[in-house]
Amino acid sequence: MISIERGACPDKLDTTRKKIAANDYQHDTVVSALLVMQHNKCCYCETDILKVGATARWVDHFIAKTDVSFKDCDGKTNWKLANAWSNLLMSCSTCNRSKGTEEPFDSKTGKRRLIDPSDPKIDPENHIEFMIEDVFIVYKSRNGSTLGKNTIENLKLKARNDIYSLLRKRKAEIDSIFNDLVNALTENNLIMAKSKQNDLRKMTSAHQPHASFCRKYIIQVAQKFNNDNLKKINKYYGLKIEPLEINIASGFQKIV
Ligand SMILES: [Zn+2]
Repeated sequence: MISIERGACPDKLDTTRKKIAANDYQHDTVVSALLVMQHNKCCYCETDILKVGATARWVDHFIAKTDVSFKDCDGKTNWKLANAWSNLLMSCSTCNRSKGTEEPFDSKTGKRRLIDPSDPKIDPENHIEFMIEDVFIVYKSRNGSTLGKNTIENLKLKARNDIYSLLRKRKAEIDSIFNDLVNALTENNLIMAKSKQNDLRKMTSAHQPHASFCRKYIIQVAQKFNNDNLKKINKYYGLKIEPLEINIASGFQKIV
């Protein structure tokens, strides 16, 4: 999960201009605005939702539209509130189905319990990361973050084998580029090495599927290379390769 920069409210949901009807949040213009804002990815698991097809993506109400805060005093849903642009995200159907009913805010303290990736005050990557060891990949909270832990549990991310299988493919792509990078370095082919470093950097761009995983794994392999292999390679090949520093993207930063 990465930060999402929320775009302008689509006209269909502009409350200063019109009354909001029950299903306005599903209007094509709203769906398009959400897809652009999220680079066609699920807001939670970063899977490419264009690839999974129109029936496998949902407009998600971050706070459920059935929440009591969206009811008028007669008990009927106030659609103006329930369809507020700031509460809408696009998710894959699996995240939408997996998402639990936990309230995003603590009713007593008002403190946030779940991560809204479009909240500019929170960077999801400060709360959720991955443990990656060979073929073993699992979501984990970062530095013991309670917000991260609650969000992982609420979305049931630890049990999502569909995501892990996609992450293993991304990992294989990174391993292959990294191999080419190391080969280029040992052959002292600095132009090729730079191009491979750039390929890795592009994989961390906000518009790439599973960017948060790629960011974490690229840092991990570069650190492993610097700590474990660099000295040996320099000695064996008689080179003076500097420690790798791959300049990865952060937040909603897009690299083209
Ligand atoms: Zn998802």
